[in-house]
Amino acid sequence: MTPLHEPLVDTEELRPTHLEVDLGQLATNYRALVARLGEVAVMPILKANAYGHGLVAVARLMERLGAPCLGLAFLEEGIRLRRKGVRTPILILGGILGDQIPRFLEHDLILTASSVDKLMAIDAAARAMGVRASVHLKIDTGMERIGVHWYTAPELLEASTRCTHVDVLGIFSHLATADEADPTYTRLQLERFEEVLHFYEARSLPTPVRHLANSGGILKHPGTWFDMVRPGILLFGVAPSQECPVEGWGVAPALTWKSRVVYFKVVLPNNPVSYGATWAPSEWTRMVTVPVGYGDGYPRALSGRAEVLIRGRRYPVRGRVCMDQVLVDVGRESAYNGDEVVLLGGQGTESIRVEELARLVGTIPYEILTSINTRVPRVYVGEDG
Ligand SMILES: *Cc1c(COP(=O)(O)O)cnc(C)c1O
Repeated sequence: MTPLHEPLVDTEELRPTHLEVDLGQLATNYRALVARLGEVAVMPILKANAYGHGLVAVARLMERLGAPCLGLAFLEEGIRLRRKGVRTPILILGGILGDQIPRFLEHDLILTASSVDKLMAIDAAARAMGVRASVHLKIDTGMERIGVHWYTAPELLEASTRCTHVDVLGIFSHLATADEADPTYTRLQLERFEEVLHFYEARSLPTPVRHLANSGGILKHPGTWFDMVRPGILLFGVAPSQECPVEGWGVAPALTWKSRVVYFKVVLPNNPVSYGATWAPSEWTRMVTVPVGYGDGYPRALSGRAEVLIRGRRYPVRGRVCMDQVLVDVGRESAYNGDEVVLLGGQGTESIRVEELARLVGTIPYEILTSINTRVPRVYVGEDG
């Protein structure tokens, strides 16, 4: 088995802090989506280190499960997977620079063509290299991010029919508000996308694979499913927003962020803990130190707010989160050096959900997941990594 995480040093397994990723749960999630979506293809979106779960391991799993295509944000993410032996088609969703095009072609990565100029540059590069380029056309139906506006899209579609070294495999757009309660803007984007697609029908040309739905679209707007969907956060068992619950979809989170108690002491009344001396106990209490901090991606904004699990119970984080350590107040209970601490995920019957941490920090679950950085080793359990 090839290593799934590249360690800093060979003693990394001794680090008490790691992120346990349940590949069996991710497989369950993927299969649940495939079953629910029927004829609609499912393209797992694995950008940002597979939403923190580890790009290579998750990509290999999805390849084994038969995913038709993987979606990534950047060229270098795609090259990494190719170097790790992943052969499945890979679509790079983000914008490209002209000098990157040969690298896409070299590594057999599908490009997003987001303007006539870029499409022409792709065609020219493929011709020069004597290969064919695979592209998906990107239509902007209301994000004002990359892609041609829906109202000028016919120029891009027209241009694509004149390319000699480009295969247009897909056409897509992206939804701005699919996970919100109000469906109005999503409906407008859907109408605009359909209007663009009319180009193919009107000319009796075969329509490339059409895709529009992110997790919010999948959960709330079946009309946006078309031929293929692009689940990111939903694949990882997390709801994109509170308005978009995942109950009934057969998915669950797959991460447990674990550490261990490395130090224990009694703190006397009025003796403040951690930087800034922002909090002190009013009565004596037992305080443990856990070797994880904002330098690992545990947000500093959780200072004095978050709870962690020890021996199946919740205990508060006190004072400021440090770069490499946090302090947890176990009160009059006891905890011992080596006790497991869970920062995210379940322990016994309790659990800390990513939504909870996101709410405490004032952000979205996406940011919590993708902020857990590579200093935290990923440990894979469940389905064979
Ligand atoms: C990130 C991304 C997705 C996945 O979004 P989720 O909300 O995580 O499902 C889908 N499509 C594009 C173009 C993206 O950039």
